[in-house]
Order: sequence, then C-alpha cells, then structure tokens
Amino acid sequence: MAIVVFTAVKLPARYLWLLPAVALLMILYRGYGHSRALPAQVLLPLSGRVIGIDPGHGGYDPGAKRGGVQEKDVVLEISLFLREYLQQGGAWVVMTRDRDTDLLEIMAGPKKRLDMQNRLQIVEEAGVELLVSIHTNSINSSRWRGAQVFYQEGHEEGKLLAAAIQDELRRVLKNTDRLAKGGNFFMLRESSMTGALVEVGFLSNPDEARLLTAPEYQKKIAWAIYLGIIKYLTS
Ligand SMILES: [Zn+2]
Repeated sequence: MAIVVFTAVKLPARYLWLLPAVALLMILYRGYGHSRALPAQVLLPLSGRVIGIDPGHGGYDPGAKRGGVQEKDVVLEISLFLREYLQQGGAWVVMTRDRDTDLLEIMAGPKKRLDMQNRLQIVEEAGVELLVSIHTNSINSSRWRGAQVFYQEGHEEGKLLAAAIQDELRRVLKNTDRLAKGGNFFMLRESSMTGALVEVGFLSNPDEARLLTAPEYQKKIAWAIYLGIIKYLTS
C-alpha cells in the first residue's frame, strides 16, 4: 500500500521519511483491529460469571487431621489456586474465606450451624451462580485414595456440574475411577445456585496426604476443577 502511494503521489524528497512511518502505523493499526475483533469469550471463557469458592472449615474448626496435616489448610491452598485460574478465565470470584478463619464473627448459638449459615449468606448476597465447596476426605482405613465429587440429591444442574468436575479430576489426576455421587449437604441443599462439593483426596492415605500438601499437586487439582467448571458452563 505504501509503495503505491509513493509512486502515484510523488512526494517531495524531504517528506519521504513519512512513508515507512505511515506503513508501520497501518500495520500496527491492523494488528490492533484484529485483536479487538475477537469475541471476548475466546480470550476469557468465564467472562461475566460470578463463581463462589467455599474452602471447608477454618479457624476453630480444622476439619480432618492426620499427621500434622489439617484439612482447613489444604483446602484453602487449593481454593486460592482455583481462584487464580478462575480470575484468569475472566470470572468474578467470591470466597467464603481467603485465610485461616471461621465465619463466627457474631458468636451465638451452635458454632457449626452458624458458620455454615454465614457462608451461605456470603454467596447468596454476592449473587454467586455456581458454587464449589472444597474438602478433603478422611476415613478409618489408609487404603482409599483419589478425588470424589458430590452433588445434592435431586439437583439436576448440580449433578451435571459434579460430573464435569469429576471427569476432569479423573483425566488430570489419573488416580480414581469414581463417578460423581449424590448426597445431602447443607451448603448445596440450602443455596439457590448450582453447586458441587469436591473431596479432593484422602488425608487418611499417607501418600495422598503428602501429595495434598505439595503446591504442584494442589495446583493440578485446582486446574482440574477449573476445567470441570468450564466444561459444565460451555456444554
Ligand atoms: Zn470437610
């Protein structure tokens, strides 16, 4: 284009430096135009979505404990990695806690119940459309390992979300053949949004407990949950 202008217009010699400058500007402008033309969803799959993360336990309530490892710490670390992925994906993320605390600023009545009600209030007031509660499993045998996702029995959307997350955990972690399972959970039952509860692994299995405290493994779990959320929202 610049060459055509050059030959057709015959600029005075002192203005010739303008030609490469104009050509460069045109190239830059075209590049700029192209990137702006891409639909926002291509770059940010979760743009405009409000997603809640509920790291289980915290503060006075450690959750499961095995050999110095506490559920409340493991699930917080994974939740913080998940928040990072979701935010990078364009989502607005609401957390019921982002540090080691319970939700008992106002102390009255049975602790656990109040803590859960306050978590519920946070996600409801923030207009969360999709909620993921993060926990670890622990049983009396060291035999079992692997992640398991639960949904509230009778909630069809929650079942689809749980299945999508379980699929991705199975694919990314390669340590379980489990399918998403129904059950009865306060946060999922009482909240108005689609939700799933992820038991990321068993603290009662020494090998898995070790893995669950390693940042690289925590990131892997968060990444799988993130992919599951995208899969649910885009299918
Ligand atoms: Zn728990």
